Amino acid sequence: MLIAFILAAGGYFFGYQKAKQEHRGALLTERQHSAELKKALKKAKARTASHEYEKAPPRPAARAEKVEPETGAKPMMAIIFDDVSFAHDVRNIKALNLPVTMSFLPPSKRHPDSAALAAKQSYYMVHLPMEAVSFSAEEPLTLHVSDDEAVIDERIRQIKNLFPKVAFVNNHTGSKFTADRGAMEKLLYALDREGITFIDSRTTGKTAVPGLMKSLHRPYISRDVFLDHDPDVDAVKKQVRRAVKIAKKYGSVVVIGHPHKQTLQGLAESKALLESVQLVRIDTLAAYESHE
Ligand SMILES: [Zn+2]
Repeated sequence: MLIAFILAAGGYFFGYQKAKQEHRGALLTERQHSAELKKALKKAKARTASHEYEKAPPRPAARAEKVEPETGAKPMMAIIFDDVSFAHDVRNIKALNLPVTMSFLPPSKRHPDSAALAAKQSYYMVHLPMEAVSFSAEEPLTLHVSDDEAVIDERIRQIKNLFPKVAFVNNHTGSKFTADRGAMEKLLYALDREGITFIDSRTTGKTAVPGLMKSLHRPYISRDVFLDHDPDVDAVKKQVRRAVKIAKKYGSVVVIGHPHKQTLQGLAESKALLESVQLVRIDTLAAYESHE
């Protein structure tokens, strides 16, 4: 009897110790994560780059009437980080510990390692530089509306060689290119050949992509919310709240941010709110949008 008691008590004790250790382990990882995040935030650069548009970003596309999400299913949110170019961008985004999609700029003299960095990721997008109405710091090898089919085809082949796993691209700048239906048509054909889907960042309200997609009977997937047009932590948090509202109303939302300090911090401070949506990769969201 006594022995049984000792055994039971011992078992309980060791079980308790084990649970305590596990709990401590979990806390430690959470603590490690926040330490990593803190370090990342300290090093992350505050937004300085000027944007293609100066005032308010163009409005999101009008969405179809309310889609009732499946019972119990949380609405989907895809968060895309644009302009990913450097190892510190990748590190800082990963320190967030949220399932987001990184969109890498093709390598250039300024950021020669972007494709090599992408190669180490299990999933990524490519951030395709496209002509803006006016933008001073154009990326090299930006696609222009004056480019003919052969030039566009060659560029997309290059992109596929540089980023073999690419399945989705979104436009970097592009207010002129996406507004040009002829140019967009050429680009879509070139992307089709490589099995790549175009996501419209909507850098212009005059984008020709929705009309083009409609005529091709394809879903139009585009940015609903920019997180950091206003580079301020509270403004970023406000944009997250807006995005969650859109997701709840329409079943899904596409959010774009940049690896700036304010964006990372705003997202980190919005984690509780993000529990109310399902953070998904862009391919999951696209599959959902295609079956509507
Ligand atoms: Zn960009």
